[in-house]
Amino acid sequence: MTDGTAPFLLHPGDPGSPVILHVPHASRVIPADVRAGIVLDDRALEAELDHITDAWTDRIAAAAAVAARVRPWRFVNRLSRLVVDPERFPDEREEMLAVGMGAVYTRTTHREVLRPADADPRPLIERYFHPYAEAMTAAVAERLDAVGRAVVVDVHSYPARALPYELHGDGPRPPVCLGTDAFHTSGPLLDAARRAFAGFGGTEPDTPFAGAYVPLRYYGRDARVGALMVEIRRDLYLDERGAPRDAAVGALGRALAGLVDRLPL
Ligand SMILES: [Zn+2]
Repeated sequence: MTDGTAPFLLHPGDPGSPVILHVPHASRVIPADVRAGIVLDDRALEAELDHITDAWTDRIAAAAAVAARVRPWRFVNRLSRLVVDPERFPDEREEMLAVGMGAVYTRTTHREVLRPADADPRPLIERYFHPYAEAMTAAVAERLDAVGRAVVVDVHSYPARALPYELHGDGPRPPVCLGTDAFHTSGPLLDAARRAFAGFGGTEPDTPFAGAYVPLRYYGRDARVGALMVEIRRDLYLDERGAPRDAAVGALGRALAGLVDRLPL
């Protein structure tokens, strides 16, 4: 999919790169028919998008792709996570279902109603969640075929102050949180990330957000697939009004490129 309306895009990297920068939460775009299923008025929806969107993480990833010695691939969600959240489990395994934030959210970050509780999530899962998961799986498969391994680096950001929906919001909120997975995040991969982001005031693993995204086909079974989640605290690069500070966006992009360049072979 390469047209302007594609729900997600895979930006090609170097044929020899194992790295996929995955950007799932940067977009605010909600198709009109999906918008019609959300009960918030326009002002409340804009406020919710301000809270939930990982603003400008697509730009940070793009800056990293330009700065890296070997260009990584980039898989970018063009739709808001209020359409579907591609990183949730689409079923009862998802712990966020407890707060109405499984793959199709029914609650806001402030635990208010986003969609009617009896709204059927299946049409959105079929139309958006599964195609996204299949394309991401194919992108990983392609890296495995081409270079024998794949490393998914998830690029997120998170608010300086905990939002009511967070299940683990009482933990430390470091400048850069590094989400790990016991099977897919090697010690050297985590070390490379710690060093790459050392200049921003400190990193901590798995607080306040834990885990890393791996397509289910490979999850917990294929050690050739590495994964790490980078969660950048938003006050590092946004001003009080939510506008990006260009120098900080650039510096974070270069740090992410540094991680790509340091990835252990
Ligand atoms: Zn995110």
